[in-house]
Amino acid sequence: MNIHEYQAKEVLKGYGVKIQEGIVAETPEAALEAAKQLNAETGTSWYVIKAQIHAGGRGKGKIQQTDSNGVVLAKKLDEVPEKAKNILGGTLVTHQTGPEGKNVSKVLVAQDVYYPGDSEPKEYYLSILLDRAKGCNVIMASTEGGMDIEEVAEKTPEKIIKEWIDPKVGLQGFQARKVAFALGLSGNALKEMVKFISALYKAYDATDSSQFEINPVLKTSDDQILAVDAKVNLDDNALYRHRDLAELRDLSEEDPLEVEAGKSDLNYVKLDGNVGCMVNGAGLAMATMDMIKLSGGEPANFLDVGGGANATTVEAGFRIILKDPNVKAILINVFGGIVRCDRIASGVVEAYKSIGDIRVPIIVRLQGTNAEEGAKIIDESGLKVSSAITLKEAAEKVQEVLKNA
Ligand code: GDP
Ligand code: MN
Repeated sequence: MNIHEYQAKEVLKGYGVKIQEGIVAETPEAALEAAKQLNAETGTSWYVIKAQIHAGGRGKGKIQQTDSNGVVLAKKLDEVPEKAKNILGGTLVTHQTGPEGKNVSKVLVAQDVYYPGDSEPKEYYLSILLDRAKGCNVIMASTEGGMDIEEVAEKTPEKIIKEWIDPKVGLQGFQARKVAFALGLSGNALKEMVKFISALYKAYDATDSSQFEINPVLKTSDDQILAVDAKVNLDDNALYRHRDLAELRDLSEEDPLEVEAGKSDLNYVKLDGNVGCMVNGAGLAMATMDMIKLSGGEPANFLDVGGGANATTVEAGFRIILKDPNVKAILINVFGGIVRCDRIASGVVEAYKSIGDIRVPIIVRLQGTNAEEGAKIIDESGLKVSSAITLKEAAEKVQEVLKNA
């Protein structure tokens, strides 16, 4: 689960990570109040106004309606409401949002930490994530902060420092120092960076996160080290033991169909293709998606209904797939192991009748226990559903319906 920058910064601050201070606002008036409060608390007289969406690249991104960037500087208090207004309610398009962009309903009004006249602010990149192959956490750091890290990795991979941390042992002092040294720091800045990295790792570990990305981490000319941006990705599987963090979820940032699927305990991921699919088991779902591609279609989704699929799950899955306007055909591919094929077939027929107006052709491939009985139920239902027993047969039927679509 992703959270917003303003939420992530609060979480980090709670673990002693130094951050660029800010206050979230939903209206231009509230943005002005936020700026006044920041002025009183931090003494800042310049402010940064930052669109809050679950995507990066906001600084270079544009609000479609006003042409404002997603991150802007206000050098006077009375510029704040106007600049906030140009972001709030707009659609922000960045290289991470796709062309449709994301609606902005909140801005973070933050203190300007690149002090006016500071001739040597320096931006670093720092992230912590799980290295699944090594079974370790890894800290990645770079002197090329503020840049797209994928680009750094591609063009100058030697500029990315990696330090692996055994989760059983935790981060050792020498490891934090090693990273700070490798970033070329010395003196007070080195000490501050070591503190920053240690606090960041503590936060990562304690929140059961799967990824932290702080880009940029800023070093000011007076050797403070601060998080200017914060992307925090929490591990969904651990949220049950972090009720407070689970509450930070912003459903409006997530795909509505994925949210609905989650409520029915379905494992659904929306994709861009034209053939919807419903499968029991993740491995079979992947194979089915490959098969759709081989037969000339593009999968519209990944949907694993789980091993114990029944009429209710099938109906919920159907409803979700049908809400995707790109879907031209649906392929149901179920292996009857725990569940019997005739039960799935009856479930499909029941769901079909209960939903009613289904306009796309449906191909059902049932294999395993009672496969033939299942096919018979489908074929005799009188509905616009065709059955297949082998994968090849199913692929051919998909090809055929796409040709006629
Ligand atoms: P992102 O574009 O979504 O990654 O958003 P960031 O939070 O990283 O902000 C984008 C850029 O805005 C940063 O790389 C900085 O260059 C700039 N920025 C952020 N905070 C400040 C600030 O306090 N002062 C100034 N002058 N620039 C800032
Ligand atoms: Mn950033």
